Amino acid sequence: MTKEELIEKYPQYLNPEGIKTPIECENGWLPLIDKMCHEFDFFNHDNSLFIIRITQKYGALRVYTNWLTDEIDSIIRAAETKSLEICEICGKPGDIIGYNKPRNSWIVTRCEEHRED
Ligand SMILES: [Zn+2]
Repeated sequence: MTKEELIEKYPQYLNPEGIKTPIECENGWLPLIDKMCHEFDFFNHDNSLFIIRITQKYGALRVYTNWLTDEIDSIIRAAETKSLEICEICGKPGDIIGYNKPRNSWIVTRCEEHRED
């Protein structure tokens, strides 16, 4: 799956009013976003929900939407939590790696193979 394919599948969440949501993570996490958007459908009763930004922070997926309910929030949190055990590059099982020093932090989630990427 590519980012373009995901945007075409869920234009209401990822291309609202023709403005594409920035997806600032690698493709290994796209299945998590796919599942999340599918689950949004059950709670997006007035069709007004969209995603403002998708990014990576401290090795985890971060998702920002234009509004939140408890249900939407728990769907996002489940995807964010799951991302901590999935390689951001390829989608295989992964672990948090990196280092954290003053002014030089680098924390990502990677499988063995993509440790150096
Ligand atoms: Zn990998």
